[in-house]
Amino acid sequence: MREWYGDCNQQIYLDYQASTPMDSRVISAMGEHYSVSFANPHATDHALGWAAHKAIEDASAKIAGVLQVDADEIIFTSGATEANNLALLGLARRALPGRRRILVSAIEHRSILAAARAAERVGIQVDFLPVTDEGIVDPAELMERLGDDVLLVSVMAVNNEVGSLQPVKALADAAHGVGALFHTDAVHAPTAGIVDMAEVDADLASFSAHKIYGPKGIGCLYVRRDLHDRIEPLMYGGGQQQGLRPGTLPVPLCVGFAVAMGLMAGAEADAERKRIATLRDLFVERLRRAIPCVLLNGPRLVGRHPGNANLRFAGFDAYELLAMMQPRIAASTGSACASGSVEPSHVLRALGLSIADTNASVRFGIGRFTSSRDIDEAIAVIVGTANKYDDGNKVMPRNTF
Ligand code: PMP
Repeated sequence: MREWYGDCNQQIYLDYQASTPMDSRVISAMGEHYSVSFANPHATDHALGWAAHKAIEDASAKIAGVLQVDADEIIFTSGATEANNLALLGLARRALPGRRRILVSAIEHRSILAAARAAERVGIQVDFLPVTDEGIVDPAELMERLGDDVLLVSVMAVNNEVGSLQPVKALADAAHGVGALFHTDAVHAPTAGIVDMAEVDADLASFSAHKIYGPKGIGCLYVRRDLHDRIEPLMYGGGQQQGLRPGTLPVPLCVGFAVAMGLMAGAEADAERKRIATLRDLFVERLRRAIPCVLLNGPRLVGRHPGNANLRFAGFDAYELLAMMQPRIAASTGSACASGSVEPSHVLRALGLSIADTNASVRFGIGRFTSSRDIDEAIAVIVGTANKYDDGNKVMPRNTF
């Protein structure tokens, strides 16, 4: 990891799928819960405890309302990594002898892939679902692999690297057809406009606050009520959250998560997604016009997460290109969670990209606080840097640039 301690003011943040800045409405709602309602929300003997408990109840109810589920079906976790682990390992550890197979897509986040590997150690068979070159799981491919020995199908609603939107309802229907459960890593679903879990028909779904302009360190697993006793907790303690995830809940984080989730539904949120998609389309179009060797990885822009642009700078080393753009542009090569490791993105590889093309790819994420001026400036910096890179490396076709 390179370190940089300079002035951040000149930076253009284009890494919204790695994390989002907190919304000021989230921060101000959290504020008073750090001071006034500091009491333990599980303390039952005094009014301060009741007040903190009420704040948690309100937060669960608000999140549940947006997701169209019930408040007691929301289990707070430290984030989506924990939610994904709780879903897969929790179910695996209580799996009955006749259902011991889990199907996951090849482009899942590492917290699903690693949890699936860990489930293998308790005797679960894990099968991987291939994806198309647009990063989509074909329900027909799932059907072929389904059987009455399948415990769980887990497919993310929206991919974090290429922004592909999965046909989650069709996948859930197929899973249910053989009596299997359906889990979706829905971390990027709210920013893509997918919040209604009843519509998706997921039995379990993972969310993370810091991907929706909320605080880091909080997320949740939605678990259908009748499945609660089919999940073995990852930790044991004071029995909070129906014993599924014990530990004292962080009231300010839960409140902040709920405010952030509340901002994901409604007309304002729809308008925001349209604005972001327009900026993203402009960004891609202008960059492709200025640098002809730039190609779009994954799905077409229509039907893709509105803020995602995964671009391949054919012939470039994306890591070097981004390094040259520091400190001006914050974007990432592959998934941020895998950064620090030099392994090429497993997502781009699963879409059929060569190692060279994978290593030439950059994910740009546009979001709530991106302005059209940011886009103008980012284009200027990226084009200028690509020129400079080409002066030294001569990777672009001579007469096109
Ligand atoms: N799933 C996906 C699709 C993600 O993008 C991330 C964050 N990179 C996670 C899970 C993990 O989320 P968290 O940071 O809340 O643990």
